[in-house]
Amino acid sequence: MKVYSFSRGGLRFEDDFAPGRVKSWLAFLPEMVIVPLAVEAGSRSIPVVSEGRDIEEGMLIARRQGSGSANVHSPIPGKLVKTIKWAAAPGFLSDAFVIKLGGSFNRLGKPEVKHEWTDLNWFELRSLLDEYGVIEMDGLGRPLCDIFSKNNMTDAPITLIVRCVFDEPWLAAEYCLCKERTEAVAEGCLITARAAGASSVVFAVSAAERELGRALLEAAKRNAASGQITFAEVLTGSRYPQRSDYAMKAVMTRYAKRGGPVKGGLLTLGPATMAAVYDAVVFRVPVLERHVAVGGPALKHRAVVKARIGSRLRDLVAECGGFTGKTEEESAVATIGSPLMGRAAASLDEPVLKTSRSVFVSAAKRRGVSGKKNFLLSKIGGFLPEASCINCGECRSVCPLRLDPEDLYKTISCGRRGMVNSNCIGCGCCEAVCPSKLPLCTAIVRTPPGGDARAV
Ligand code: SF4
Ligand code: SF4
Repeated sequence: MKVYSFSRGGLRFEDDFAPGRVKSWLAFLPEMVIVPLAVEAGSRSIPVVSEGRDIEEGMLIARRQGSGSANVHSPIPGKLVKTIKWAAAPGFLSDAFVIKLGGSFNRLGKPEVKHEWTDLNWFELRSLLDEYGVIEMDGLGRPLCDIFSKNNMTDAPITLIVRCVFDEPWLAAEYCLCKERTEAVAEGCLITARAAGASSVVFAVSAAERELGRALLEAAKRNAASGQITFAEVLTGSRYPQRSDYAMKAVMTRYAKRGGPVKGGLLTLGPATMAAVYDAVVFRVPVLERHVAVGGPALKHRAVVKARIGSRLRDLVAECGGFTGKTEEESAVATIGSPLMGRAAASLDEPVLKTSRSVFVSAAKRRGVSGKKNFLLSKIGGFLPEASCINCGECRSVCPLRLDPEDLYKTISCGRRGMVNSNCIGCGCCEAVCPSKLPLCTAIVRTPPGGDARAV
């Protein structure tokens, strides 16, 4: 079977600090959770409970208010002790509820009741996804119903691409989820296809995981009620950033040219979203927990844990045995998401969100150093003094978009941000290979117009 990939650039990204893809374990219940009421910048959900109120596990605590927002549910039972301000995005503050654990669980440890969904139409399925606040869990966190509505603006056919591509070790949580909940992920794809109006489902699977791809495909075919949906599997390369929208589009274009069943618009979602769709429709439960890969040089152990949404990062640190002897909490810095594309957490009190798939914890926090740069520097064992470009050309050779990161960085460093109009996807390959450890990608993606790249 042919393996499809993007044509140039990229890198093999290995990391000994990432957890193994063996098996997840259930994290201890947190004594307290922090639940933000916004999923993305500009969105706000309206609280439906007030401070001091007793809360049940899975209870609706804030209601969706228009496009971009989603219903919010309590991941634990307890009491809503206070409302705090939470930075959902740079420059965007929203409310977050602090809930203290207490009372009894009405879901944990109880048998789940399965609901039949095959008689439901797309509208009824979307209503359920709306009700249980299902969002895109491996992307920006957009509510699923918003994505479906946008895709349905035209009558063109839609292909659902299920992104089971593992191009870097920090995707261990996604991998474990796929292995542990293969049937749920596959059935979630069928439900999503009907809700979105997709006529074909393509499992995009890393070539190294053929067995997983076959298992997903067989499970989906087994559960499909009729022959209305076409299923296929496409094998992809495993060079980072194979998983990016850019690379996936390149793969699907080539696959379609060779006769693959890819028609019309692409709706690309990951396995965590498929499992959430399944839980919302079949078990009628919101997302209460998620698989998170936790590791880094500052931690004693590395693991994939199933953590309650809203657990603080310090709870995950404790779950992994705490810090190594040399690391002090004050000097620890956590990066949320892929270490190459992730963002630095403000503190270990930041909560696990529905979109948090990995957390990397390193030591040696320094003022003015981003989480990503801290990560890259931790790989070489420390901080470099102010370094400059040595013109080695490594950054150009790995850029999948054939850009010149060195040139872009230098232009931005001269204060000419306005002259840079690149289509950089922020993959971080250039920054990862730069021997001078210049913050290339960070500068290209994050420097505001008129800003100085050296300050990022
Ligand atoms: S310039 Fe952008 S697209 Fe190219 S390697 Fe750097 S981050 Fe990736
Ligand atoms: S990789 Fe770094 S040092 Fe080498 S050319 Fe690019 S910016 Fe300069």
